[in-house]
Amino acid sequence: MKDETKIVVTGRDPKAHAGAVNTPVYHASTIIYPSLAAIRGTEKIPYTYGRRGTPTTAALQNAMNALEGADGTMLTASGASAVSLAILSAVEAGRHLLMVDSVYQPTRKLCDQLLAGLGVETEYYDPLIGGDIAALIRDNTAMIFMESPGSQTFEIQDVPAIVAAAQKAGVKTAIDNTWATPLHFRPLDHGVDFSVLAATKYVVGHADALLGTVAAKGENFTKLQSVHGLIGHSVGPDDVFLALRGLRTMPTRMKQHQTAALQIAEWLQGLSFVRKVLYPALPGAPGHALWQRDFSGAGGLFTVELDPCSEAQLAAMLDNMRLFAMGYSWGGFESLIVPCKIARTVTPYETDGQMLRLNIGLEHIDDLKDDLRDGFARAGYKI
Ligand SMILES: *Cc1c(COP(=O)(O)O)cnc(C)c1O
Repeated sequence: MKDETKIVVTGRDPKAHAGAVNTPVYHASTIIYPSLAAIRGTEKIPYTYGRRGTPTTAALQNAMNALEGADGTMLTASGASAVSLAILSAVEAGRHLLMVDSVYQPTRKLCDQLLAGLGVETEYYDPLIGGDIAALIRDNTAMIFMESPGSQTFEIQDVPAIVAAAQKAGVKTAIDNTWATPLHFRPLDHGVDFSVLAATKYVVGHADALLGTVAAKGENFTKLQSVHGLIGHSVGPDDVFLALRGLRTMPTRMKQHQTAALQIAEWLQGLSFVRKVLYPALPGAPGHALWQRDFSGAGGLFTVELDPCSEAQLAAMLDNMRLFAMGYSWGGFESLIVPCKIARTVTPYETDGQMLRLNIGLEHIDDLKDDLRDGFARAGYKI
């Protein structure tokens, strides 16, 4: 079955739910055991306690397993908690963590402000390091964490080369795959141990719920499931339902996000005051060759670097946009625009230019271009 079909048919069982197309929302903490044998554990029952899962959570887990090619997927209450769950499934005190320098900023803060105090040493590495990561692996390295493309600057990592180096040294790998989703890049097929998704973005897709997933195979999944339980992660069933609802249309939405993002990126590239368009799906953009080699599609999020402008000019543009709103998160149906904040330690991104990150939504491409064109004019760019 192709992914589009899998996404429609998996995680649903109308016969088990009065014919309803969608798995209902089970609100449950207590689950009643049918017998003493069941509560003793000698008789196996599928659900034992709300935190450990219900038919609603199982529906999303089954659908994600199909999409990720995973043995199991654990759900968390946000993308950020999915990141920490994946890391805590492999690192412990005294161990060393190799973290990509272009990582999502809250992941960096987790390493610097929490893991450091727990005795985990984080070392940041160049997102373009590829197989040379082998030289950074130490005897106590527990995990290499990747995010590709990187947040804000969209470097594509050579995941196969990094995984090969990690496997040779017996080091676990994880990737934050939020931008591509397993529709366009399947981490587990590439030998990555933990596939992390901020499902808040393209899975939920409607800017109305937070959710994270971590998928794995074999013993990695066993460990992941255990750590998930120990931490006490749980997601409310209404949010799981929203994720399931979003998932059904994700391939269709992503096609449009990609088509529109590519057309807008091409248009931007031709403007005289645009210095760089950091969108790996754009021919000629940084990372395009690796993206072509490893990905089957793209997200609709990218960064554009413009000639410098003053804060007042930028405010004139951003405060008066009709469609592109300013706000964090992305992957919803609506377009967003934010100025970039780039925090790096080993690969500083030096520029005096104006960096803007665009989330291309599902509005008509012509309307989006008009909104940007008028905004650039307000900022004093010659358009
Ligand atoms: C948004 C995001 C997250 C965190 O997701 P939340 O659901 O907001 O916690 C993690 N990684 C990346 C790459 C993101 O863009």
